[in-house]
Amino acid sequence: MLRQDGHRSGRLTRLDRFTVATAISTHLSRHLQCFKDQTTMTTHATISANTGIFPPARFGRSHRLLLGYLCLLPLPFLLTFALPMADKGIYAAALTAVNTLAMMAFYLQFPLGSRLKRIPLFANIGWNIAQHKKTGQWIGISILLHPILILVPRFMVSFRDGMHSLMTVLTAPQMLTGIIAWVCMMLWILAAVFKQQLKLGYEAWRFTHMLGFVVIAILATLHVMSVGSHGQFHEAYNLVWWILCYLSVLMVLYNYIVKPLILRSHPFRLVDVDQVSRTDWQVTIEKSDSSDFNFQPGQFVWLNTSKRSGGVNEHPFSIASCPADLPRISFIIRNLGDYTSRLDTLRIGQPVYVDGPYGSLSLEESSRSTAILLIAGGAGIGPMLSLLRGLARTHDPRPIRLIYGNNDLDQMVLQEEIRALEQSMSDFKQQLVCITATDQDGIYQGVIDQTCIEQVMQQQNPGDWSVYLCGPQAMISAVNKSLKLLNISPANIHYEQLSF
Ligand SMILES: Cc1cc2nc3c(=O)[nH]c(=O)nc-3n(C[C@H](O)[C@H](O)[C@H](O)COP(=O)(O)OP(=O)(O)OC[C@H]3O[C@@H](n4cnc5c(N)ncnc54)[C@H](O)[C@@H]3O)c2cc1C
Repeated sequence: MLRQDGHRSGRLTRLDRFTVATAISTHLSRHLQCFKDQTTMTTHATISANTGIFPPARFGRSHRLLLGYLCLLPLPFLLTFALPMADKGIYAAALTAVNTLAMMAFYLQFPLGSRLKRIPLFANIGWNIAQHKKTGQWIGISILLHPILILVPRFMVSFRDGMHSLMTVLTAPQMLTGIIAWVCMMLWILAAVFKQQLKLGYEAWRFTHMLGFVVIAILATLHVMSVGSHGQFHEAYNLVWWILCYLSVLMVLYNYIVKPLILRSHPFRLVDVDQVSRTDWQVTIEKSDSSDFNFQPGQFVWLNTSKRSGGVNEHPFSIASCPADLPRISFIIRNLGDYTSRLDTLRIGQPVYVDGPYGSLSLEESSRSTAILLIAGGAGIGPMLSLLRGLARTHDPRPIRLIYGNNDLDQMVLQEEIRALEQSMSDFKQQLVCITATDQDGIYQGVIDQTCIEQVMQQQNPGDWSVYLCGPQAMISAVNKSLKLLNISPANIHYEQLSF
């Protein structure tokens, strides 16, 4: 029978597997160290992935998640130590290690892409999506190289031998699932990397992404078991691959079929859609009596206002109200595209399906700070308002500052309420920042930069401040650089990005 490594028989020695395992563990610990050096945030995303900022190492939440992920990753490979595997030599052993790691990383893409908020390792959606994207590219590279690495040794023996192996691979019936899976995997990963250029609506892209990878998971599992040399002669090992495949498919079914049914039984009701600036809406919904929905200021949900609950017609939005406003929750939503430009067509009273809350932005993270700085760019005002309203409700006595930036002055939302909070809270002030020139007093003209932040902090010790930040990716990245220059510890910076 044809084997992935091109060998027909032999046993993999424990020494070979030990050598490969040692190499992998060294690589993983290097990767972990590298990640430790690069991660800035204790909140639910890694700024390093997006900004290139390299803060000092600190074993925070992201590191714990990474460690958990790295512990799961080598499990199938480590299982091969328990099996009487064929002795294939160091090259084939290394291939086995790479292939089993890549396959496991592939299965782990499903929980990373799902919203499993009850499983701590996969509850941090922002971190999950960042890892999902990064890992997806590595999986793409290893799967691209997979047939090449198998065939190259054959070509090194002789061109004829190589061509013979290639033809055998291409024509063997048992290779068909692997070939289809390989081609689909390449196409789907390219589609994910270039999704912005694809001119496909986000919903259509997400649906095909999900469906395509379910098919690839099934085909790849069949391939591993019918051709792969990593335990194909051992039923227990094949069972592991099948269980991983079933779990992956189950996760998709849960997200797209079971969860929508659950959400359907507790619909929220649309109460109000109000235009609150030239570009922004305030959308208010109310939960039903049967719903036990609750949240922390700063969290976000997936909103679905279509006729059907769940599926792919959902959009993530941060909650702008605070828990004390329940049963109502409100959102500030900027008109940015297909869905957000049609909010005025929604029918008051219609059902709204809410999946959440998600996100780990939380006021608890600032409990040790003596002052709080909220920084919002554009639609990023939503979660900052939620935090501000939460702080107002608890009569927080600390200095609280809000820096709120927009392109134009007529994009600033809820100014009346924010000015009222300046009067009613013990030490709260807002600084508006506007790119377009304006003759109104007190506006910082330009973008939110280091000078602006310094002015707002009024020479107080930056180490005393906790900073919350929300806005588009470019703004988060630029503001983080300024905060770094002001020596604000990454542990005191908590942020939410408005895109995954
Ligand atoms: C955690 C989080 C919190 C957010 N909070 C807010 C908020 O409080 N207020 C606000 O105005 N915006 C918020 N956004 C952004 C908001 O989700 C998008 O602007 C909105 O989904 C755009 O949809 P559209 O169809 O109008 O635009 P499109 O033109 O169709 O999409 C524009 C871009 O938005 C993203 N997007 C579109 N649909 C989805 C989706 N279903 N899921 C994920 N991303 C999508 C895609 O990157 C897409 O390229 C948030 C995003 C995230 C990730």
